[in-house]
Amino acid sequence: MRCPYCGSTNTQVKDSRPSEDHSTIRRRRVCADCGGRFTTFERVQLRELTVIKRSGRRMPFDRDKLMRSIQIALRKRPADPERVERMVSGIVRRLENTGENDIKSETIGRLVMEALKSLDDVAYVRFASVYKNFREAKDFEILLGELAATDEDEDGPRSKAAAPAED
Ligand SMILES: [Zn+2]
Repeated sequence: MRCPYCGSTNTQVKDSRPSEDHSTIRRRRVCADCGGRFTTFERVQLRELTVIKRSGRRMPFDRDKLMRSIQIALRKRPADPERVERMVSGIVRRLENTGENDIKSETIGRLVMEALKSLDDVAYVRFASVYKNFREAKDFEILLGELAATDEDEDGPRSKAAAPAED
């Protein structure tokens, strides 16, 4: 494994341990040339996935990239890292189990939204606003309205959108 600091391949594993659910092996490594320390993760990969972007561009599926976009949505939110890790693993397993090697980016976005919705409302709204490419405040209002409706139905409708006008 190449050192991320100096590029040397002269690195050694100092410590290996499985994650709590034994789905990952975490290895602490040290670079013999610059002394830099870093961690690598070893995981099962059932198949090679390709993401098809909205533009039609194809790119290899990247779990770390998925994790980063989720962490951006979860920024400063109280979320247990182990739970987030499990959530990402669950999303990846579901993608692998679709039986397709080509996955539309919309499919990934939809799975992330489903998962975040049960984890953290704020992160869900943040992610959705990027994923759905919100441009106007009313897009947020619609989404927040949906959240409120699933959280507390007893409040009743807060606004009557698109009520027919009387002459
Ligand atoms: Zn190094």
